[in-house]
This record gives sequence, structure tokens and C-alpha cells, in this order.
Amino acid sequence: MKEQKMPLGLYIHIPFCAQKCAYCDFYSLPHAEGKMDEYVRAVSAHLAEVAPRAAQHIVDTVYFGGGTPSYLGPKRLKALLSSVQKHYVLSKDAEITLEANPDSAGDWRALRTLRRAGFNRISLGMQSSIEGELRAVGRIHTFEQVRAAVDAARKAKFKNVSLDLIYGLPEQTMESFSASLRAAVALEPEHISCYGLKLEEGTPLYTARNTFSAADDDLQADMYLFAVSFLQEAGFAQYEISNFARPGFESRHNLKYWTLSEYAGFGPGAHSDFGGVRYSFDRDLDAYINGALRGGQMPMECEDLPAWTRDTEYLMLTLRTVRGLNPRAFENMFRQRFAPFLPLLERYEALGLAARSTDNTWHFTPRGFLVSNTLIGELLDALSSEKQRRFDATARGDYIVRT
Ligand code: SF4
Repeated sequence: MKEQKMPLGLYIHIPFCAQKCAYCDFYSLPHAEGKMDEYVRAVSAHLAEVAPRAAQHIVDTVYFGGGTPSYLGPKRLKALLSSVQKHYVLSKDAEITLEANPDSAGDWRALRTLRRAGFNRISLGMQSSIEGELRAVGRIHTFEQVRAAVDAARKAKFKNVSLDLIYGLPEQTMESFSASLRAAVALEPEHISCYGLKLEEGTPLYTARNTFSAADDDLQADMYLFAVSFLQEAGFAQYEISNFARPGFESRHNLKYWTLSEYAGFGPGAHSDFGGVRYSFDRDLDAYINGALRGGQMPMECEDLPAWTRDTEYLMLTLRTVRGLNPRAFENMFRQRFAPFLPLLERYEALGLAARSTDNTWHFTPRGFLVSNTLIGELLDALSSEKQRRFDATARGDYIVRT
């Protein structure tokens, strides 16, 4: 009988950017171009080292994220992808994504080289079509460069292009946000992500937070609900809180994160959930290179998490998706009753915050997604009360089977 291989996603972090954006909390370094070649050697060595652990897996998604992967240039990106192809079994229809900034993705010949090497999806950080909004958060590209990058991707025959947008930018209004949405849809991408701006402590934008007018919670909520219905009408179905796609173009890699599927990450700051262990490498480029190339210690955090202990995580992540939380799957995976959640879910349904599909799978509505942190918090409280009840019952001996 043919051996069944398990699916695996690979995430490769590229921690380089031409300039740091004012709101950015990702691990990315400006002015570190001098380390790019050594970094490519380090990740290639690390990919080869981890590969034997993935011998029973088939890689069906590869995601180059950052940072700015396109800033690395086609030669280095090709070298990294060929390390993946050399050391891992890749499925024929693997989704291979390149995150790109519009200012470093306008050369269609470079994109054609990458497409021919195997990349088949490009995710462009558009963020806004309004120049003033882009400048206010330190983005170095223009909207014209977004248009040029999409044209270049099409000319290079990419059939799967995604655009990222941000709502809640400094001085952004409902009108300017809807103009950005219209401009994004006019570029005819297959996928759009729409994230609310978060002011992360320690970023320049956080420090300057009193010097600009930021969208308050109500305006952000209006922008979000507007985006959901506008994109829906334009043919982009919502499949996760912040993600919308034409049919068949949902990000298969990102879906892995929300469904507890396995993925292995490479690079400083990259996370993995692989072989029942969750681990992440420290945000330290030099330590990572030293560990991968010279046998030094690669600083990391590790957590052993057998599948049956992941009920909390499963609940939180599946409820981010429009597919939602299926009672039978939950009961089978965690040997726990779903009933304690029902009163809450039915209340959310009555309030228009949740709905159930014909197979009784529960999911949040767009209004529910807006307050999902609160709703999930309440569901997690119900889960821990149920666990306590079971613990007390076991302690009393209620569950002892007498023969
Ligand atoms: S391009 Fe992306 S990763 Fe780089 S600084 Fe800007 S937000 Fe951060």
C-alpha cells in the first residue's frame, strides 16, 4: 500500500527591509543588505538540516514572508526556493507565495524568473491608494508603484495576486478608505487582506500617537463593516476575519495557521508548529546565522503541545474563520462535550453576532468578528468552567466505572 504523506507548510522569514515603516513591529532590519548572502546560506543550511524530520511529509505550501522578501532579489530567492525543492517533497500544486513591496516588485523580467523558478502567488503590501496616508506611516512606495507591480506580475504570468490594505491609518477617513478599496478592486487581484492598524508600543507611530488624529473604535468598526460588504459585492468572499478571496483563491498557507495544521518556520522570529512541538527562533539575525552556519546555539523557545491539549487554541483559531467551529469535530478531537458552549452561541445568534450552517458549524458574522475577542473570551471561560466541573466530578469519583 502506498504510504500516505502528511501535509506540511514551510515559512521562510526574510528579515530585511529598505526602510522601517513607522507602525512596524515585525522582525525586519533596514540597512542590513550586507548580510543577505550569508543569510541565504544560513537558511539553506537550516532547510537541509530540518529536512530529515519532514521525510514523512509532503510540502503543499511555501510562504516567503518578512520583512520584504522581494528586496532580497530574484537570484537569492531562487537559491532559497531551490534548497526547498532539493531537500523536501513538494506537491505538484504547492502554493508558493512571495510577499513583495511594490517598490521592489516592478521588474516583470525578475518576476518572470521567479515564476519560472516555482513561485505562483504574490502578496503585495499596497496598504492605501492615498499618497499622504502612505507617507504618514513611512511606507516608501507610491500607489503608482502598486499599479506597476500588479502589471509586472500579470506580464510575468502570475495568476494569483493578493493586495494588503490597512484601515484606521492616521488622518484616514471613510471616504479615503473606500477610495483605497475601490482602487484595490480595480487592479483585479484574486485576494485582498484588510487589517486594522494597531499602534504597537515601541514603534515611532506609537510615540507620535498624540500628534495625529487616529480613527476611533467606532470609525474603525464602520470601516471594517464597509470593507466586508464592499468586497463581498465585488466578488471577494470573506473566509477569515481579515481575508477575502475570489472562489478558490483563499491563502492555503494562512489557512494552516487557523486550522492547527503543521508548518515549519525558518529564520529569526519565525514560528513553527511541527511534530507536536511549537517553537520559535529568537529575533536575532546574527545568532541565527551563527547557529545555522557555524554550529552555534540557535536561541529559541519551545513548547511541547500534544494534539489533545489544544482545545483552547482550536476554539480561538477556528472561530477566526468563516468556516467556523464544528461541534462534532471538536468533540472527537478533544473528547469533550460541546454542550457547555451552546447557551452562549445561541445568545450570540440571537444578537446577530454568530450563525450556524446546515451542518451545525458555528461561525461569527462580520459584526461578531468585530467583537470576537470578547466573545471568544466568554467561550473560553465556559470551557474552563466545564473542565473544572469535570475535574471536581472525577475527584468525587463520579466517573469511576464499577464492575
Ligand atoms: S515593509 Fe513590512 S516588514 Fe518592512 S518595515 Fe514596513 S511593515 Fe515592516
